[in-house]
Amino acid sequence: MQKDSMIEIRWHGRGGQGAVTSAELTALAAIHEGKFAQAFPSFGPERRGAPVLAFNRINQTGHIRVRAAVNEPDIVIVLDPGLLYITDVTSGLKREGTLVINTPKAINDIKPEFGGPWRLAVVNATAIAREALGVPIVNTTMLGALVRATDIFALESLTEPVKERFGARAGSNLDACRKAYEEVIIAEPVAAAAKRTGITQTEVLPGWKEILPGCPVIEPGNASQYRTGDWRSQHPVYDYSKCNKCGLCYIFCPEGCVEPKDDGYFTANLYYCKGCGICSAECPKDAITMVEETQ
Ligand code: SF4
Ligand code: SF4
Repeated sequence: MQKDSMIEIRWHGRGGQGAVTSAELTALAAIHEGKFAQAFPSFGPERRGAPVLAFNRINQTGHIRVRAAVNEPDIVIVLDPGLLYITDVTSGLKREGTLVINTPKAINDIKPEFGGPWRLAVVNATAIAREALGVPIVNTTMLGALVRATDIFALESLTEPVKERFGARAGSNLDACRKAYEEVIIAEPVAAAAKRTGITQTEVLPGWKEILPGCPVIEPGNASQYRTGDWRSQHPVYDYSKCNKCGLCYIFCPEGCVEPKDDGYFTANLYYCKGCGICSAECPKDAITMVEETQ
């Protein structure tokens, strides 16, 4: 990677995972080193769990005037392994670029699908974040992997921005960042072209007018056409031995996807569940556990 040229980065995450914060911290770290940088997000009208893009441009030598979305990135970072199979994360990635993925899989298991003429780096950021922070929010963890895989700036340049952003929680976030820096596994480019998922990447998420064509009034009745369960990174698992059939999970689910069963218990319709965890948080009997998706 040419350090004296413009470097463009695309972050793939989900609402609530911190992709936008990652991009902002990346820009601040670059600015800390005297570089020029910008960070900006792109997302549609959806909320927590929806796919989100964020972008960076970093230039060592001068102002950055272009403000458009990054379509041919030097670096792609994937915060959620589930996104690998619903979007083409390598769309436009430069041949000499770098792909950094959060995944529990070994690099040799990822390489056949996502290896290519770019450098590939994998780290189990979710596990690191859970251990260091107690929650699977991987934004600062993935920054450590990014720095190690790209040498885009010094790891120490993140210290002040992270302290400023996270205050009392900065220490654990920096621990997660350092652990990912140490644990990321990197594979150099392979000659063969990457095997694709067959999914065409929507390079920039559509705005609300494209989702709702020409329409200030939303007609009811089409929500079932959108299988929002694809956005989920975790799902609820019921333990009916603890359940008292109170129905609070049914009442509180913001997606309306908790359904009553014939026996009086409830279940989540995983075609639509976005994995927000509200049912688990509201259950008075601790009968619902949120479990990470494995694929
Ligand atoms: S409340 Fe539970 S069932 Fe409803 S979307 Fe959130 S995690 Fe899924
Ligand atoms: S909130 Fe908990 S106890 Fe109440 S019905 Fe749902 S799973 Fe059962």
